Amino acid sequence: MKKINSEGVIYFRSDSIPVPHGFSTRLGGVSKKPHLAEMNLGKNLGDDPPAVEENYRRMASAIGFEKDSIVFTNQIHSATVLTVGKEDIDKTYDCDGFVTREKGVTLAVRTADCVPILFYDGKAEVIGAVHAGWRGTVDRIQQNCIKAMCELGATPDNITVLIGACIHKCCYKVGEDFRNTLYEKLGRNMTDRYVSDDLYADLVGLNRELLEEVGVKNITASSDCTCCKSDLYFSHRASKGKRGVMSAFISL
Ligand SMILES: [Zn+2]
Repeated sequence: MKKINSEGVIYFRSDSIPVPHGFSTRLGGVSKKPHLAEMNLGKNLGDDPPAVEENYRRMASAIGFEKDSIVFTNQIHSATVLTVGKEDIDKTYDCDGFVTREKGVTLAVRTADCVPILFYDGKAEVIGAVHAGWRGTVDRIQQNCIKAMCELGATPDNITVLIGACIHKCCYKVGEDFRNTLYEKLGRNMTDRYVSDDLYADLVGLNRELLEEVGVKNITASSDCTCCKSDLYFSHRASKGKRGVMSAFISL
């Protein structure tokens, strides 16, 4: 993935996806409060609404989508992925992911340590975006997105997947409940592979393997840990919960 500086807005994109897309960082926005500075994209975190609006305007202009074309998620740590279209623009849904094949619709998911994932099938012209928290990850939200894309004509072979910066194994200490849920839902082998004996978990590895399990081959993941690099990214864990939020966007 490439780091882009567009008039001060720092974000990440990949040449493997030719349509407008990107993962924001915390740099290049106008939010002033130290824990929200600068590029906070959360509307309910106590930020000034005009600052958040301006941040969205800057991201849209940097990445190249229409600011007023976004469909929003009320992220509820589910594995629900909805198929949306133009009629859903500016609406907010109780889910953690979207797919569409309509031009002029921008899919957005917000994160601050959780895993943002973007999906693109250039042959079928179908896109997807997912917020994979640990519960969504073990409930297979990434596979639900592939399924929803395939219902719109995509095939796993043709889907390119980008996994943005998120909390990595170095910093992601989990509880017994995480390990127990993983064991119950995904079995012993996966649990042993992705949760260490001292309870550090690898969400990127888990999402990658679950995508490969349904036939996706072209997967690129950021090597950045949001918690280690909290000067570049908002991190829930590094900030002990007092933080802004980033967003991943994709649009046909
Ligand atoms: Zn780390």
